[in-house]
This record gives sequence, structure tokens and C-alpha cells, in this order.
Amino acid sequence: MSIRHRAGRVRELAFGSEEQFVRYLGYHVAAFSAQDVGLSRRIGERYQMLTMPNRMIGCYAVGEGGFASFFLYRTDDWRLPDDPAAALRDRFGDLGWVVPELLEASSGDVYFDQAAQVEMDNWHRDRIVLVGDACGAVSLFAGHGASLAMTGAYVLAEELADGNVEEALARYQARMRPPVTRTQEFGRRFTEWMAPSSRWRIVLRDWMFRLAGLPFVRTRILASVLPPTGNVLDRPQQDRALS
Ligand SMILES: Cc1cc2nc3c(=O)[nH]c(=O)nc-3n(C[C@H](O)[C@H](O)[C@H](O)COP(=O)(O)OP(=O)(O)OC[C@H]3O[C@@H](n4cnc5c(N)ncnc54)[C@H](O)[C@@H]3O)c2cc1C
Repeated sequence: MSIRHRAGRVRELAFGSEEQFVRYLGYHVAAFSAQDVGLSRRIGERYQMLTMPNRMIGCYAVGEGGFASFFLYRTDDWRLPDDPAAALRDRFGDLGWVVPELLEASSGDVYFDQAAQVEMDNWHRDRIVLVGDACGAVSLFAGHGASLAMTGAYVLAEELADGNVEEALARYQARMRPPVTRTQEFGRRFTEWMAPSSRWRIVLRDWMFRLAGLPFVRTRILASVLPPTGNVLDRPQQDRALS
């Protein structure tokens, strides 16, 4: 298994060691995609999820005979194991369905990392500025990481187009931090929904999702665990006073 995981070298050089900024959420995650026509057909194009207390597997077919999958397990030890393939076999080797084949296929290029968020007081220093996961990773629990990264780049470019770099960086951070913070809060709440810690919580979650079509459940109960919405592309009026 070759491993890819988060790199924070530039951030470390300019802002300091990652321990100051990374909030570990209590899980390790592995993700990979591979080609296997038979397995791809068995999985099917709908997203399939297998949840056991404190561990979860998700997978779906992609493209011609391919599939994508990810494994999530809870562990208090934030350090990554020396042998991630063995760690996955240890955690998931007792499961049936397509899991033995997925574990077999996980010997290739695999993303393996802690599920974590990045929280920083300052996203810029002098003329160095961070965008996306580097300054505000929300984690896979929250989703939206890719759109926040792209939105951040767009907002940064928009603000830089206005002239003074220092002020532009301050406005960029002021616009992007609130949605990033809200999404991180949501991500932390969502851990128990994605990988519940007990069987009864799994049953409860599954019933909630089944009942999600009912208005009361959707607006009163699920609203608190759904991702935040908002539009950061609208430029606040007070920002203009800075330029
Ligand atoms: C398992 C998993 C599932 C996810 N699912 C979703 C999802 O469904 N929806 C969603 O929106 N988000 C999801 N995310 C989060 C999403 O992938 C990230 O938030 C997003 O990719 C962040 O984009 P980025 O450009 O900031 O960082 P990255 O995508 O990590 O890009 C940074 C790039 O910089 C490169 N790099 C690093 N250091 C250097 C250097 N010194 N020199 C040159 N290059 C360098 C890296 O190799 C990398 O290619 C998921 C994440 C994981 C781990």
C-alpha cells in the first residue's frame, strides 16, 4: 500500500508546526478508487454504506468498471499506524459483503490520514496567504471542503483585484472565516451521524433518514444536523470602506 496524506510544509514554514492548528476528530480515514468490473457491478452506482459501531465503509461504482471506497474507524490514537493495510485488515477483516474484496484492492495507491480540522487565527502573514484545507479544513464529516476551497480562491482573487494587498487579505479572511467556522461546527456534530458509536445510535440514524421526507422531521429534527447554507460571494458593504 502506498500512502498519500495531507501535506502542510508551506504552512509549517510560514506559520509554525501543525500541532497548533490541527484538531483531531477521533477517526482515521482511508480512501481509494480502483478498477474491477465484477466488484463495480456488485457495488452498483448508488452510494452503499455499511456501518458498525465506531467504523464505517462507503463505496459506489464509478466510470467503466471502476469503484471508489472509503473506510472510517474511531481511534483515540491520532498517530497513523506504521502499516495502514494491516490496520484496515484488523479493523474490517471480520466483515462480509464486498469488504474482503475491498481490502484486497486496498493494496494500491491509498489516501490514509486522520480525520481532522484546521483552525488558525490568521490565514495570512506578510504576503503569504493560505487557502482551502491549509487554513480551514472542515473534514470529510462536513463535506463542502472542495467548494469552500474553490470559493476561497475566488474571493481571494476578487479582493486582490481591488489593490492594497494587506487589506485585501484581511477582507478575504473576514468573508471566508464565518462559513468555514459554521461548516466545521456542523462537521463535528455530524461525526455521530456518519460513524455512530453504538448499535442503537445506528438504528436511530437510519430511522431519521427514512423519515426525512416528513416535514416535521426535516425542519425540526434534521435541520440541526444539516450543513449550513449562505452566500459568501455577495460582498458585504462594510468591506468597501476598507478599500
Ligand atoms: C475521504 C475524503 C472525502 C471527502 N469528500 C468530500 C466531498 O464529498 N465533498 C467535498 O467538498 N469535500 C470532500 N473532501 C474534502 C476535500 O477533498 C478537500 O476539502 C479539498 O480537496 C481541499 O482542497 P485544497 O485545494 O485546499 O487542498 P488539496 O485538494 O489537498 O490540494 C492541495 C494540493 O497541493 C499539493 N501540495 C502540497 N504541498 C505542496 C508543495 N509544497 N508544493 C506543491 N504542491 C503542494 C498537494 O499535493 C495537493 O495536490 C473529502 C476529503 C476526504 C479526505
